[in-house]
Amino acid sequence: MTHVLVTGGAGFIGSHLVEALLARGYEVTAIDDLSTGSIRNLDEARKHKRFSYYIDSVMNERLMAELIDRADMVYHLAAAVGVRLIVEKPVHTIETNIRGTEIVLELAARKRKTVLITSTSEVYGKSSKVPFNENDDLVLGSTTRPRWAYACSKAIDEFLGLAYYREFGMPVVIVRLFNTVGPRQTGQYGMVVPRFVTQALKGEPLTVYGDGTQTRAFAYVGDVVEAMIALTENSLAYGQVFNIGNDKEISIAELAQLVIQRTASTSPIEYIPFEKAYDENFEDLQRRVPDLTKVRKLINYTPKVCIEEIIDRVAASVRSTLR
Ligand code: UDP
Repeated sequence: MTHVLVTGGAGFIGSHLVEALLARGYEVTAIDDLSTGSIRNLDEARKHKRFSYYIDSVMNERLMAELIDRADMVYHLAAAVGVRLIVEKPVHTIETNIRGTEIVLELAARKRKTVLITSTSEVYGKSSKVPFNENDDLVLGSTTRPRWAYACSKAIDEFLGLAYYREFGMPVVIVRLFNTVGPRQTGQYGMVVPRFVTQALKGEPLTVYGDGTQTRAFAYVGDVVEAMIALTENSLAYGQVFNIGNDKEISIAELAQLVIQRTASTSPIEYIPFEKAYDENFEDLQRRVPDLTKVRKLINYTPKVCIEEIIDRVAASVRSTLR
């Protein structure tokens, strides 16, 4: 039986990936230090006989050596994530993201295990050439602005993954995840969809930062994890970088209105200047849209869940926690 290791398995995306892998009949082990993940995310997975988990850090090399030894494949999701966390804990972000990936690749290389590295649309930086294509230049801001430390740490992870492929022929796939949303994502670290839905359900004002004309394209987590699995199962994906997300854009002001409408909320919308919402060194992005041509071509990827359905599913999940 194929045995898969998921680092960051108790996180929002990790826990959905764990469930999808279990549903495919794999034996799955998760490791998570619960820094941003939650054991409750694994409630479903823990009912399975083919599932085991470790509350520990990917920095624990001895444990990682053992877990990678036992696995046929590694999905490396453990990382410091979320814009707010990155601004608040820059040292932790840089160290976890770079060293964690080094450990995974180094250990997996010894036995040529397949590794999927999760990167992020943040690596495109403030490029204004939308949609973002995998071969585009990265346009990062100054090192005096902490946001870009996250992008740089993930770009190093990508370089390292590609280097292992080139130098040792190791089966490595890199995915750049765009705004991924769905049940279990917490608004605690700034993510807009769970924040708006929670605000709407509590009857609190929806906090739109800036003038709300900035856009994003939100992908459903279930669509994203299916694409991740399909890519690792396709040897043509090795040594390559793929965008995964949804390419249907919506402005943040429109999103706020849609959330109010779908949840039948009476909440008002409150516009908050960026300077008040974030640290003064923060820069927000006006548009972020993936070019999905490459992933579409290789695995026939099409996002299935639209933003309306996403909001409904997130609302159902938030309602169950508010009760
Ligand atoms: N945003 C907002 N109100 C919030 C949280 C976020 O208007 O309460 C905005 C944020 O400024 C950004 C967009 O929503 O323009 C998406 O933010 P998120 O942190 O979810 O993703 P990212 O900026 O990383 O794409």
